[in-house]
Amino acid sequence: MGEPGYRADQITDWLYKKRVDTVDKMTDLPRPLRRRLLETFSLGKVDIVRVLGARDTTRKFLFRLADGNLIESVLIPASPALYGGRTDRRTICVSTQVGCAYGCKFCASGLEGFSRNLSANEIADQIIAVESEAEEKIDNVVFMGMGEPLANFQNVLRAIRIINAEWGLGIGARHITISTSGLAPQIRKLGEEPVQIRLAVSLHGATDEVRNRIMPINRRYNIETLLSACDYYHAHKKQRLTFEYILIADVNDSDEQARLLCRHAYRLRAKVNLIPYNTVSGLPWSRPSEKRQEKFLSILQAEGIPATLRREKGHDIDAACGQLRLQTEREAVARTL
Ligand code: SAH
Ligand code: SF4
Repeated sequence: MGEPGYRADQITDWLYKKRVDTVDKMTDLPRPLRRRLLETFSLGKVDIVRVLGARDTTRKFLFRLADGNLIESVLIPASPALYGGRTDRRTICVSTQVGCAYGCKFCASGLEGFSRNLSANEIADQIIAVESEAEEKIDNVVFMGMGEPLANFQNVLRAIRIINAEWGLGIGARHITISTSGLAPQIRKLGEEPVQIRLAVSLHGATDEVRNRIMPINRRYNIETLLSACDYYHAHKKQRLTFEYILIADVNDSDEQARLLCRHAYRLRAKVNLIPYNTVSGLPWSRPSEKRQEKFLSILQAEGIPATLRREKGHDIDAACGQLRLQTEREAVARTL
């Protein structure tokens, strides 16, 4: 706009540090500039419409976007580190899309299909809104809410820039984790990006047979295609990646799957994060017994694979991605009947 460079610092300071909700409050900008900003831009905002859970527990936030679409974020209190340092303090799980096109058979986010990508600011605004509502500073971000982050590649990278920058939210790259269901070409592309964020790959099956049954994406990029993209990523980043593995009873929880999973993890020097399945109403899947979960974990540990079993928080508030939105939409439909 032909303005001096320091105006950008002033504006990002108002947006991301002081967090004003109107351009009029940017009082150190000259009035004519404020008017031009008002004419050129709008200050997007996500509205919190529902909060579930109490302070010090996992809390879930449902947002309404400017166009009426619903998305959700989850705020997870301090817990032993899953992705970052010694403890993951105040982690937020953000959404990247409205719905999801990938239709994993166990997941609530994909049940109603895909509506649209979120913009970079709709992604970053989830963090700003939750920090303001919870009155807490968030220090870890995981892209594990609704949607497939790598299918919204450019906007997610722009959001990460805002989240990571000193002029933005100032959260370190090593405290930002993207989770993907396995978009092999985009994993390679991400490997070429300079950002040092962490990557988690939702494997959920150690053979094509198991993965095909629950994740349609595997028919496009099978396990070998996925793992060789991970090899490429690993070679570029020199950084450990994480395999996410939901344990679903009688689907992927056999000793045989555990042994094959060890091989994949060994190949990539990957960590494994086991997550007992969160039941979704209307879907037939369930979590294995605790005994089976522990057995699966012990097979990985015996092979020296760094593995954790998430005794996850939030089961009681439907914290698996997409569940709160689905419930709210179903209630809304029920009210109109
Ligand atoms: N689309 C990306 C990121 C969002 S899903 C991905 O699939 O990786 C984030 C994680 O939640 C994934 O590992 C996904 O498989 C898992 N997930 C989805 N539904 C779940 C459920 N009902 N119980 C436990 N984990 C679930
Ligand atoms: Fe989409 Fe991830 Fe859910 Fe699969 S698990 S449907 S990719 S959000």
